[in-house]
Amino acid sequence: MLLWLASAVWLVASVAILEKAELKKGELRLHFNGSYNKSKIRHFALNHPYREVFDIPNARLKNSSVGKGLRTSHCYSIRISQYKRNTVRVVLETERGYGCNPYRPLFAYNAYHIPLPPFKVAKHHKKQYKPKKTKISVKNTPKKHHVKAQKPKGKIIHTPKNIYTKGKGELIVIDAGHGGHDTGAIGGGKREKDLVLQIAKRVERQLKKRGYRVYMTRRRDVFLKLRQRTHIADRKDARIFVSIHANAVPKRKRNKAHGVETFYLQKTRDAKSQRIAARENRAVLKGAGTSLSKKVIIDSVLNGPKIIESNKLAIDVQRHILGNLRTRYRGVRDGGVRHAPFWVLVGASRPSILVEVGYISHPRERKRLFTPAYQELISKGIAEGIQSYLNNRKREIEL
Ligand SMILES: [Zn+2]
Repeated sequence: MLLWLASAVWLVASVAILEKAELKKGELRLHFNGSYNKSKIRHFALNHPYREVFDIPNARLKNSSVGKGLRTSHCYSIRISQYKRNTVRVVLETERGYGCNPYRPLFAYNAYHIPLPPFKVAKHHKKQYKPKKTKISVKNTPKKHHVKAQKPKGKIIHTPKNIYTKGKGELIVIDAGHGGHDTGAIGGGKREKDLVLQIAKRVERQLKKRGYRVYMTRRRDVFLKLRQRTHIADRKDARIFVSIHANAVPKRKRNKAHGVETFYLQKTRDAKSQRIAARENRAVLKGAGTSLSKKVIIDSVLNGPKIIESNKLAIDVQRHILGNLRTRYRGVRDGGVRHAPFWVLVGASRPSILVEVGYISHPRERKRLFTPAYQELISKGIAEGIQSYLNNRKREIEL
């Protein structure tokens, strides 16, 4: 009995059982019986017809009915199969590429969410792609999981082109960091407060072009109290709050640190994120004069859905900034999406992120950062990221 128990426990620990697959809020949501290894999931796209494919290793379907009958007007088909003995394959066949960003919700470690395309598929679709007759359905599968693998047709493609719908006057708050006596970081005689204001103004133009309204926390070289920054975002019923900053490191490291980083609010143990947060918080807190306390941060951290939303927004924005910069510039480093306890993000009760557009301390990056073309690509990236995020949210509501 003990041995049986032990082996059962071992099985559960090594193989994740896919118990349920459902369509909800514009996403295909997979539910496992426990934790699964997200980093091992292989995600790629195939063309002719367009397919988003996910191979989930160390996973099995609970039974033959999992993933059956999933129908949506956004995909020609959704197929879930036991591709290999311990690999579950998920295929979304749709009309064309879209920025499909699957994720694991922060507070649901056993779930995996795959966003559906924002567009619907044409009704009269001649099926170009038919799975072979030895259809991979668990129904016909002998008990030993002896399943013939389904070879994907077509060439693997990457970076699907995104097509987004225009905004309908949603309000976006753009916060240029620092200002007035607070210069922010300084490198080579250049000041963060000037750089971020230039970029903020470009972001404003890019967003307006896309059909959004924009509220700028500052348009001039003035110092704002923390309250002025965040309460504006709350009072004006804004959909999104984006704070724009530039990073810096001490002289001895200046040739090493460079790249783009996007943050959302959360407590962190990561030393580097803590250092950046400490530097950005210092000036903000000096002018705060409010009763902000640690408790405020913790309350915000516990406000789960906003963190998930901020995380999604951060991912979209980071991806689009890099995508844009890399079309014209080489060696742009992806510093990634991270969380840090920035004060400026506390109190803005909507998806809120802080973008560090680059390192003003790095000689080459500083030069680029003060180039109009480079600023324009960053701004375009931020605007596209916001658009992508809002498009995805809209889809969730519609479905
Ligand atoms: Zn800053």
